[in-house]
Amino acid sequence: MHKILVIKFGGTSVGSAEAMQQTISQIQVARQKWSQLVVVISAVSGVTDLLLSGAKLASSGNEKGAYEVAHELDEKHRRIINELLKSDKEKNFVENRLNTHIQEFSSLCHAIYVLGEASPRALDAVSSLGERISVNILAASLRELQCDATSVLSSKLIRTDSYFQAANPDMDTTREMSRTHLLPMLEQQIVPIVTGFIGSTDAGAITTLGRGGSDYSAGIIAVALEASELWICTDVDGVMTTDPRIASNAKTLDTIAHNEIVELASAGAQVVHPKAIGVIMDQNIDLWIRNTFNPEGAATRVVSDADVSQTQKRRAKAVTAVREQSLIALEGRGMLGVQGIAARTFGAAARVRANVTLIVQTSSEQSILFAVPSIVADQVVLELEREFYREFEWNDIEAVNVQNNVVIVTVIGSGLFATSEFSGRLFTALGENMVDVLSITQGTSGGSISVVVSKSDADNSVRAIHELIVGVS
Ligand code: ADP
Ligand code: ASP
Ligand code: MG
Repeated sequence: MHKILVIKFGGTSVGSAEAMQQTISQIQVARQKWSQLVVVISAVSGVTDLLLSGAKLASSGNEKGAYEVAHELDEKHRRIINELLKSDKEKNFVENRLNTHIQEFSSLCHAIYVLGEASPRALDAVSSLGERISVNILAASLRELQCDATSVLSSKLIRTDSYFQAANPDMDTTREMSRTHLLPMLEQQIVPIVTGFIGSTDAGAITTLGRGGSDYSAGIIAVALEASELWICTDVDGVMTTDPRIASNAKTLDTIAHNEIVELASAGAQVVHPKAIGVIMDQNIDLWIRNTFNPEGAATRVVSDADVSQTQKRRAKAVTAVREQSLIALEGRGMLGVQGIAARTFGAAARVRANVTLIVQTSSEQSILFAVPSIVADQVVLELEREFYREFEWNDIEAVNVQNNVVIVTVIGSGLFATSEFSGRLFTALGENMVDVLSITQGTSGGSISVVVSKSDADNSVRAIHELIVGVS
């Protein structure tokens, strides 16, 4: 049996004609070594945001604004097509597909405008268009270079539930669909260029796997095909000690353990989607994070937790931040001893689909503090007021306090916080930088520590903690 490599390229790797050329040369190099290659790609960078902004304009009654977005989308892709594709045949084919997709976008926006709202299902139909366009461009360009490539809609490969905007795969059906569709192509040495981000329900409706979900698509397909390796190719040299946009002295980590990268990704490091790691864990798939634009440069290999040496384990590995968060505090002396307050609190958050990003509860049970993305904070507060209206009436709960504009800064390193020494240095460093820490929590496995700080202190906090990390490694 041939070994399969799945490579995923993110938005910046297909963000311009030049970037696409880099991606193509990566594919050509990989093809020399791997006869069976599956490529998963994102939308052109910025396109998913643009698509969603069009839907938002339409739902707020501004149909003209949505049509302007359609024009911008058309221009953005046409520029890449014109620079990249040489033959009339491929150019005409891709331009025709683009026209159809732009028309579909305009029709969807019109429907949203008429209804006056965009349902999660409609938003998935809209936001899936970016990947549906980009795969055609890349596949056509590869064909021009005599590489037998074909674009593939992942809605034919990934079966999901109907949890639109963050759909979950049904792995058994997905395995069957992916294998039936892709293995014959691989046997004929065809390179499938697969849309990231997209799945479909039993009834055939398009779903998406959540923002940044192309990594997850690649992980799902790698598992379904029992691939030997998965490469996530992005615009930085692998997983680094922090986001290089915040600290220019960030360094690449040669290796990182599964549980460390899950913590890091869940705590805001965009570099890879946490669900992508979750799905390939224990699957015997070698995972690499590489730089499309620096293929010979440093890269990160994700290793099993057991493969991390004891010395590595005691190190702080990386620091990251999750932004645009709100802290919500439920407070009241009457909360003491009332059964089920926590369950009801988080039940209320779940009902409005809020991701709870941090939880602190004092042992006196007189307050619960948690963080959610600011975008859903108002909805969570309303739902809490609904859930606890009796307790409010009886004054058992006195207030729901909200603090907006906070950032959760998390430092990770498995086993690190079994030693108290690092925590001491961390708080000293924050203190020296005049950072006010609003809250603190430690990961259950002792592999992370998070501090909540105000937005204005966020980058300083990351840099201060980062100095401790690069100082010891
Ligand atoms: P892609 O479009 O390829 O999926 P993303 O923008 O989603 O790429 O993720 C890559 C970005 O993640 C990098 O450009 C970098 O700024 C950011 N990032 C945040 N934290 C880290 C980290 N610890 N290591 C590497 N990159 C990070
Ligand atoms: N295009 C999608 C997004 O911007 C998915 C991805 O890039 O991973 O969220
Ligand atoms: Mg990404």
